[in-house]
Amino acid sequence: MPAKILDGKKLSEKILEELQEQAMELKQKGIIPCLAVVLAGERPDSRLYVKKKQEACKKIGIESKTVFLPEKVSEKELIKEIEKLNSDNSVHGILVQLPLPMHIKQEKIVNAVSPKKDVDGFSAENLGLVAQGIETFASCTAKGIIRLIESTGIKIMGKNACIINHSIVVGKPLALMLLHRNATVSICHRATKNISDFTKKADILVSAVGKKNFVPAEIVKPGAIVIDAGIFLEGKKVFGDIDFEPVKKIASWIAPVPGGVGPMTVACLMENTIIAAKAFASKKWEK
Ligand code: NAP
Repeated sequence: MPAKILDGKKLSEKILEELQEQAMELKQKGIIPCLAVVLAGERPDSRLYVKKKQEACKKIGIESKTVFLPEKVSEKELIKEIEKLNSDNSVHGILVQLPLPMHIKQEKIVNAVSPKKDVDGFSAENLGLVAQGIETFASCTAKGIIRLIESTGIKIMGKNACIINHSIVVGKPLALMLLHRNATVSICHRATKNISDFTKKADILVSAVGKKNFVPAEIVKPGAIVIDAGIFLEGKKVFGDIDFEPVKKIASWIAPVPGGVGPMTVACLMENTIIAAKAFASKKWEK
């Protein structure tokens, strides 16, 4: 029997509907949830992602503002812009679009965002909290992937999970979140010898490499839940890492590209922004 499709679009729409109501409730109480996106440089893929985030904000009633900075922006100038947003009470969530221009140190920038507004969950504080099992501001992609896996109804506890990616965006937070749910986790990357030794044992396989057909069916365990988080653009067409049709024949569940992890990442970003706005609101009302 071919794998069932993990429909991220459908699941994300359900999440967005609920968030729309919560955004409305906040507005009725005088708080307009607001997400600020900082974009340094002209990468067309980054522009596309920012546009998708703005569209989602509009759909559910979150205000969005984008700070466009030139490719040559200095680290100091970029941090200054972030600090302005940190102290702006009308902004509840801040996202710095990655990757940053080569001359900028990513860690410095993600740690400049106030942890209370760090809706991407990349700061040392929020990543540290995820390590403790506190996932309030966990990475949106990792949160989205966990939601997709949980939507299958299959228990994560006791499963072998393999993630091909070790970035702070996907692999590291996701590994912590799967560990927290008592999976046994392997993380693979460019220096991993014989990736198939790990993937073939994986009941849950997540790939986020960004290379078309990086994962052929031969290295997938039959019956696995397979999540494709990679994005590879060929002209206007979008592909993932998984060799979809052959893998679909042997997996139990498969999250496609497009329509799997992408919309879930955006929905979880909206969720994190609403969480940040609610936290701001309750502090304001306490005073
Ligand atoms: P990244 O830091 O470049 O991650 C790529 C990962 O793939 C790294 O861990 C890298 O390992 C590994 N890798 C590359 N070539 C490999 C190889 N030959 N064998 C094994 N591992 C290899 O970028 P990222 O931000 O995490 O994003 C990764 C992918 O996910 C991209 O395609 C991105 O577009 C996509 N993504 C999608 C969403 C979504 O919402 N759908 C969100 C975030 C990211 P090394 O570091 O050792 O090179």
